[in-house]
Amino acid sequence: MDLGLQGRRALVTGAGKGIGRSTVRALHALGVRVVAVSRTQADLDTLVRECPGVESVCVDLACWEDTERALGRVGPVDLLVNNAGVALLQPFLEVTKEACDRSFDVNLRAVIQVSQIVSQGLIARGAPGAIVNVSSQASQRALTNHSVYCSTKGALDMLTKAMALELGPHKIRVNAVNPTVVMTPMGQANWSDPQKANAVLNRIPLGKFAEVEHVVDAILFLLSDRSGMTTGSTMPVDGGFLAT
Ligand code: NAP
Repeated sequence: MDLGLQGRRALVTGAGKGIGRSTVRALHALGVRVVAVSRTQADLDTLVRECPGVESVCVDLACWEDTERALGRVGPVDLLVNNAGVALLQPFLEVTKEACDRSFDVNLRAVIQVSQIVSQGLIARGAPGAIVNVSSQASQRALTNHSVYCSTKGALDMLTKAMALELGPHKIRVNAVNPTVVMTPMGQANWSDPQKANAVLNRIPLGKFAEVEHVVDAILFLLSDRSGMTTGSTMPVDGGFLAT
């Protein structure tokens, strides 16, 4: 299927590893000009070697001022993937201020800030755009030790709808993808314990975790005009977890 993305310019956050890195690779292969934003320079260096022409921006999106400096003049962007996220797991009674602040700063506040920068540029140019927020099945189901993470993703789902409402009149669509566990570095850190993993696997009708490509394909569809009438949606990529 031709997604018609060639020649567009996309910005992907959290591009150094996992879902973000694979999204950059896929967009680059489709002829999209990509700005890859992440926190570790070495990851960006290898990504640029792998995908010549990709522009890289190294910034910690948890810092509002650094992000403004790094992305304030990023230039015209048509497509945005807000993918950067952290999962700092703690039992609810042991949640710390630091984990709480960092989680909301990266998983929610940075989405607001980067989306403002990109949307303001689109509106000034009178150009249409598409934004995909990488949420999680954890936005809609409680998981042990995930109280803060679940809360950030629940807020992200609602932010997606609120952005769709206000940006729709400007021809900017905003959607979320909500994956189940994916064995990226984040997935491996949190789900390598078979006992813990099996508890979730047993709740997935398809009986397996997602591959990165499943998530990337959903992102590409929501970025493309093939989903031109879809905005404000939260698309599960979860093998049916949220259906139960
Ligand atoms: P990952 O393997 O940990 O990769 C995340 C990437 O984001 C890394 O390159 C990381 O850079 C970057 N990043 C994190 N914090 C950042 C910050 N403050 N500023 C700039 N870049 C930052 O994670 P992933 O599994 O690919 O997850 C991507 C998204 O999918 C996240 O939003 C996550 O919540 C969501 N998700 C993941 C799963 C899963 O099971 N993996 C399931 C559902 C949803 P550094 O490594 O340098 O910090």
